[in-house]
Amino acid sequence: MAKNTHTQCSFCGRSRDEVKMLISGINADICEQCVQNAYEIVEQELNAGFQGVSNVGTGEKDLKIRSPREIKTFLDEYVIGQDDAKKILSVAVYNHYKRITQKVQHDDIEIEKSNIIMIGETGTGKTLLAKSIAKMLNVPFAIVDATVFTEAGYVGEDIESMLSRLLQNCNYDVPMAERGIVYIDEIDKIARKGDNPSITRDVSGEGVQQGLLKMLEGTEALVPPQGGRKHPEQKMVKINTQNILFICGGAFDGIDKIIARRVNTNAIGFNVNKEQQEAQKKNLLQFVNPQDLKSFGLIPELLGRLPVVTHLDPLDKETLRSILTEPKNSLIKQYTRLFELEGVKLKVESEVLDFITDKALEFKLGARGLRSICESILTEAMFDIPGSNKKEMIIDLAYAQQQFNSSKLGMMKVA
Ligand code: ADP
Repeated sequence: MAKNTHTQCSFCGRSRDEVKMLISGINADICEQCVQNAYEIVEQELNAGFQGVSNVGTGEKDLKIRSPREIKTFLDEYVIGQDDAKKILSVAVYNHYKRITQKVQHDDIEIEKSNIIMIGETGTGKTLLAKSIAKMLNVPFAIVDATVFTEAGYVGEDIESMLSRLLQNCNYDVPMAERGIVYIDEIDKIARKGDNPSITRDVSGEGVQQGLLKMLEGTEALVPPQGGRKHPEQKMVKINTQNILFICGGAFDGIDKIIARRVNTNAIGFNVNKEQQEAQKKNLLQFVNPQDLKSFGLIPELLGRLPVVTHLDPLDKETLRSILTEPKNSLIKQYTRLFELEGVKLKVESEVLDFITDKALEFKLGARGLRSICESILTEAMFDIPGSNKKEMIIDLAYAQQQFNSSKLGMMKVA
């Protein structure tokens, strides 16, 4: 290979001793300052292309914007029920992406960010909703757990490390990460204990809420690309959170009592018959508002940055049964495919679906339990079939009961 004899930057002409660094290419050299300038030009060009268009891409991934109705239709394919949450999310997500792709206006009207908070029992589809939205929009998505964060300087993870996951999920493409979605799970676990600000420092609760404020509103965060505090030598990456959509979720155990205290029964049941009144009392979450969340222990400043509040309904038997078979990648469809790959036709009889849903309700496992129940019924068959010459596997009630009862799960006593 010919020796590179260049002694100056081929772009600005400065000599080797006038610059800090000279990077050699095949027929040219470039100094650190020109690299920086070139990067800024590329960034400006890409951003200019990004404003005002609804289908833009940095690299291989495109941002797809659909109308609220299209978003809801998409969600319907993956998530059963939860119509209120789907509608509210569809509008919020649509507005969010309209806001970040709008042309620069000169009339001072600034559309504010619409971060979202979802309240619903565990296993009702909060994460699934957030994940499905990210899948549809083709933007980077990260799930983080609020309980691992502590105020800066304490043992635990810094709040900024939630953005590390987002960065990792889009191969460190900063502009992509800057319009991603972060789902913060278990936001209820960082609630202030009691309604009064405590005298002693509340490291894990209010401190973290305070720390989240800037991040949710929009700030230039310095993010450790590999996350955590294990790599103190790593160079921080600057990420602007202005256009990142934050969706928070939590079960908020006990919030129904707070709602009940606020909404007196008469007001709920106004203009509806007794049966409807009973149903409404069973699902008080539908009346949740920011005031209830404040009484639960979220600070008003945080609530101010989560303007969209929605709830998820508890899953009843009918919904659980639909979850087994209807979504695009429902559990039964997944098992059918697994058996198909072995050349076996799987048939699960209708009573078995009822049996599985009854057990999920009995064990109070929600939709999350459906999978472990299916596993306990089908493991034996999945063990035997590979290598056998079976062509069909019919799961009837007797087989399902026998397999379930002899599994670890079936031997457990329901509390
Ligand atoms: P949450 O975040 O509310 O605790 P998840 O979204 O993680 O619950 O749900 C757990 C699993 O249960 C999901 O992966 C999904 O398979 C199933 N599931 C829960 N709710 C629904 C729903 N409404 N429609 C379809 N599947 C659901």
